[in-house]
Amino acid sequence: MWAEREGLLLRLTNESGAVNYGEAAPISWFGTESVDDAEAVCQNLGEYVTEETLAAVPVRCGCLRFALAQALGGHEMAGIEDKKALPVAVLLPAGRAALPLIGPKAEAGFRTFKWKVGVAEVGEELPLLDDLIAELPAGAKLRLDANGAWERRQAERWLERCADRPVEFIEQPCFAKKSYGATAHARAEDLLLGLANDFPTPIALDESVVDAGDVARWLERGWPGVYVVKPALLGDAAAVLAQLEKAKAAVVFSSALETAVGAKAALRLAFAFGGEPRALGFGVWPLFQDQRCDGPYMAPFIRPQDVAALNEEAVWNVVS
Ligand code: MG
Repeated sequence: MWAEREGLLLRLTNESGAVNYGEAAPISWFGTESVDDAEAVCQNLGEYVTEETLAAVPVRCGCLRFALAQALGGHEMAGIEDKKALPVAVLLPAGRAALPLIGPKAEAGFRTFKWKVGVAEVGEELPLLDDLIAELPAGAKLRLDANGAWERRQAERWLERCADRPVEFIEQPCFAKKSYGATAHARAEDLLLGLANDFPTPIALDESVVDAGDVARWLERGWPGVYVVKPALLGDAAAVLAQLEKAKAAVVFSSALETAVGAKAALRLAFAFGGEPRALGFGVWPLFQDQRCDGPYMAPFIRPQDVAALNEEAVWNVVS
């Protein structure tokens, strides 16, 4: 349970008096800088912030770099108004509790369903897969997210079962944090690559892709699966996304549980991305006690005008 979302909102005024906002939304247990780290860097920014200031912010502060780029106007992107609405994935609870929710969510218009797995034993969860698939509307996609819970053998059993079923991808079947040591980390990455090459169901990286350096490393290794990216953690997100686009990578855009300020920039980047559009992992709002802080409420689609309508100043006024 996450009772309080700590982050930083930045407000910059340019020479002609125009105001721009930015949000740093770190998730330190996920591998980003902490809010305190980001705040300490902010304390030393001085009175004026320029592109040079941004360039001097440590690379490990990817969330703050994202916020500064946003507040400097770097995420302003004309031309998203004409983009088609993007579908949103709906999150189902783990286990059998997912089953009765699929019908109503399908009725509401959702066509991409995400089910948390790796919560119970494989022998308990795996038999539910076909029951779940039977509930899906025609043409629907199912995403499984194991949050790194499995060892090789468990992941293989799932991948074997999914091979001829309508599973869009399995997200993060295995994982070892960098803090577990370089050997364990490298072994887990090799395992993911091996699984991706041995089974037909695509594998998506989520916990394995925190910052810009992770994206660069996986691109270099020729990752054949999907990248789940939280733009708010990516530092110079536009440049990272340009690399993914150039590599024709499959990208799923995902929320860092930010307010409407960060969401505005993250969703703009999702709309501007040139690759094949995949259902967004932005079905997270409402989240906040004051609804003015929320991004677009969970619905089967997000339209460009929903993003344009997000009011950064209102969020600023709520928290200040
Ligand atoms: Mg995930």
